[in-house]
This record gives sequence, C-alpha cells and structure tokens, in this order.
Amino acid sequence: MNADLHCHSFVSDGTLDPQSVAARAHANGVELWALTDHDEISGQQRARDAALALGMSYLTGTEISVSFAGNTVHILGLGVDVEDAALQAGLAATRGGRRERALEMADGLAKVGIEGTFEGALQYVGNPQLISRTHFARHLVDTGVCTDTQEVFRRFLVEGRPGFVPHRWATLRDAVNWVTGAGGLAVIAHPARYRFTPTEEYALITEFIAHGGRGLEVVTGSHSAAEAQRYAATAVEFDLLASRGSDFHSPEESHTDLGTLPALPAHLRPVWEALEGRIQHPA
Ligand code: AMP
Ligand code: MN
Ligand code: MN
Ligand code: MN
Repeated sequence: MNADLHCHSFVSDGTLDPQSVAARAHANGVELWALTDHDEISGQQRARDAALALGMSYLTGTEISVSFAGNTVHILGLGVDVEDAALQAGLAATRGGRRERALEMADGLAKVGIEGTFEGALQYVGNPQLISRTHFARHLVDTGVCTDTQEVFRRFLVEGRPGFVPHRWATLRDAVNWVTGAGGLAVIAHPARYRFTPTEEYALITEFIAHGGRGLEVVTGSHSAAEAQRYAATAVEFDLLASRGSDFHSPEESHTDLGTLPALPAHLRPVWEALEGRIQHPA
C-alpha cells in the first residue's frame, strides 16, 4: 500500500493548491492520501474531492503545533471529522497569534539590518491566518539574503537567532483530545526532529499515550533510514501504530516527493488498519 499521510498545500506552508498536491500524489502512485496542513483544515474539502475524482482513497488530516518541554512538537490528526466544532475552535486558537509572532520576527530581523520581511513574507502566504517561518525563508532566499531555506533557518529562524520568536502553541493534551474527539487518530510527527533528551522523549511518548494518542510517524521524509529503524523499535516498545508520510511542501524545496518513501517495516501495524472506517474510498 502506497500511503502518504503527511504533506502540505498553500493552505499552510506548501506552495501548491490542494488539487495540485492531489494530482501529484496520484501521479506518483499514492493509493491512500492525507493532506495535513499546519493548524488548518480549510483545504480538506478540495483535497478529498480531488482525491476521490482521481480514484485515490482519502483520509482527512491536519498537523497541529504543540508546545512541549520548551520545544515545538507536531501532532498529526488523521481521519478527523472536519465539521467537529471543538477541533475547528482548537485549530483556530492555535493559528491565532501567528500574525503577531510574524511582526515580532520581522522586528528581530530589522535589528540585524534586514528590513521589510513581514511584508515580504506575506507575498508568499496563501492563507493570511497561516504566516509561518517557511514564508520568511522563501522571501529571504528570493531576495538573495540566503541561498536556500535551510540556510535561512540556520542563520535566522531557530532559537538564539535574530528572527526567532518563542511562541506558545497548543498543549499536548488539547491537541490529542481535539483529534480523538473528532473521531481521528493522533500521531506524533517526525519524532527524530525534536532535540529532546531521552527523558523528555519518554515523557512525550508516555503522556501522548496517556491522553489517547496511538500513532508514531516512522517512515517520513524527515527521517534518515537509521532514524526510521530507531523509531520502528520505539513503535514496538510502546505498542504504537506506525505512519508513513513524505512531509512534502513544494516541488522546488522538498527532497522527498509525494509517495516516494520506503515501505513501513512489515512487522509494524500501520495506522490505516485502525482507520478503515474513516477512509473515504472512490466510487
Ligand atoms: P512555524 O510553524 O511557523 O514555526 O514553521 C515551521 C515550519 O518551518 C515547518 O513546518 C517546516 O515546514 C519549516 N522548517 C522548520 N525547520 C526547517 C529547516 N531547518 N529547514 C527548512 N524548513 C524548516
Ligand atoms: Mn511546514
Ligand atoms: Mn512538522
Ligand atoms: Mn509537516
């Protein structure tokens, strides 16, 4: 099964519209797809309609920003009911504050002589409620300040750098509850990306499970083969369902294209087995 359950459209910080992401996933052989925009579900109808029209099965999705132990963690919600009022309110609250944060980021960059980045980043935004660091990065590359987005993050947008602004996202408990309350399954996204100590990682996983979280993203564009192996073992250790997703954002920037990932290790139980009743199949 070629499942790709993690990617972005311009409803968050991707560059393509939901229909074009669907078409690209289908062209790459994806059989089960989920669009998972950051803190947003307003692209879900377009994504689902496009997927079903192409003959591709669809799971609804979102990727929720969470603050945990002084770090940002991303929780995927798969198979959620997009009409669920608590989920909609929770995501709206999580999006709130992005504009103020972006204005502060621009102030920080102006202090090191880089002017006009708020207006610059806005040029790249598809959804005014979802201005993200990625949009600043694209602006700083296209204006020649840096040669690629990795360099922008390293020099300007991570902790200790002039464009970084600490931000308070959703709590782990709330994010998992919004997802499960809307009939979905919560998954810890790209676990190898967090700079946690082993103790903090243990706390993340055990608290996530205590709140009702059930999945771990094992195979993702953000993991090396060794990291995928390591988190396959973690999934077994904690009896978590395994997920697979490219985290595709853009044809120009993403090194892992939709649907072009290794298979999940055969001994793991995939999230989609527990989501059968939530998958929307083409007619
Ligand atoms: P935000 O939600 O505004 O904090 O932006 C986070 C987004 O920035 C992530 O979803 C990624 O798309 C992107 N990102 C984070 N770190 C990096 C990095 N080192 N290089 C490129 N993109 C990154
Ligand atoms: Mn992103
Ligand atoms: Mn993420
Ligand atoms: Mn993502």
